[in-house]
Amino acid sequence: MNNDNLLRLDNVTMAFSGKSRNQDTIIAAEDVSLSIPAHKPSVTTIAGESGSGKTTLARMALGIIKPTSGRVIYNGQDIWQMSPDQRKAYRREVQAIFQDPFAVFNPFYTIDRLLRTPIRMFNLARNRTHARDMIVNALEKVGLRADEVLGRYPHQLSGGQRQRIVVARSLLLQPRLIVADEPVSMIDASLRANILTKLKELRDDFSISLLYITHDLATAHQISDKLLIMYRGRLVEGGDATSVIQQPQHPYTQLLVSSIPRPAPEKPWQGRITIPVEELAVKSDRNGCLFRHRCPHAMPECAQHTPPYYRGNAGQSVACILHKENGIAVNQAGQITVSQ
Ligand code: SF4
Repeated sequence: MNNDNLLRLDNVTMAFSGKSRNQDTIIAAEDVSLSIPAHKPSVTTIAGESGSGKTTLARMALGIIKPTSGRVIYNGQDIWQMSPDQRKAYRREVQAIFQDPFAVFNPFYTIDRLLRTPIRMFNLARNRTHARDMIVNALEKVGLRADEVLGRYPHQLSGGQRQRIVVARSLLLQPRLIVADEPVSMIDASLRANILTKLKELRDDFSISLLYITHDLATAHQISDKLLIMYRGRLVEGGDATSVIQQPQHPYTQLLVSSIPRPAPEKPWQGRITIPVEELAVKSDRNGCLFRHRCPHAMPECAQHTPPYYRGNAGQSVACILHKENGIAVNQAGQITVSQ
């Protein structure tokens, strides 16, 4: 099997059944394909509003949930058909950072114990001294001094320190990919840029790729090579991050970009455009372009077919019939390759 990609999602769909017979099935992600190259570390961002399905994609990439259809391929192997050894390698090489750094901490365990656990689980150290050196080294990589965090309990650290500890814990395992789901949204605004810079440095200094999930286009712009925009379970646009932000092609991306506060676009974007309840992704209403109820350019044709990916004017792939004249894109939004 071709191993040009470190991680590939092939036409994944995730449907959650309603709890009762009267409840519709929720399609959290629909026919999404994306790839993260193996040969060059990169930062790929999936951006969208609350309820867009981006966290569902992250959970599928991490093997936490199994897609209803489609495949998740890591290093050439379907993650749901891996041998125990392959699974162990995947578990080590693909690490997660979640929104709430508290969630991974047992409040009764010291930071030392939290950091020793992965070393022990994966048998990474020759002895205690080696383990200690590994921990000190990992802390230094995220800008923490051992004497300020070791021996302490989680509640004695700031939110920013806790999130850095999570990153340090990932680094101990020498991952090839980190899936970071809203890693800075619960962190003090003044520390966000710092943590994001650290995450981006992982790409440059340690050749680790990042799959960054966010609702915040401003931070996406700050760290991404490739930017994918998700709306109601579908990728609607994808391409080079600067092009997508500076020349958005899909009317939905244009709406998102226009909500970035100006004249200070470098500030984290606080806007959340909530999807109206009646628009939520129910199975009975998935024909045509899902954005047509909000789109200022909607026309009857938009309701008839799901738009394929067309070539955008700045190299993107965009699922909107306004770009029909440009022709079908060579790659789907998530499979587009960008140069850094
Ligand atoms: Fe708007 Fe139609 Fe394009 Fe959808 S396909 S974004 S409704 S113009």
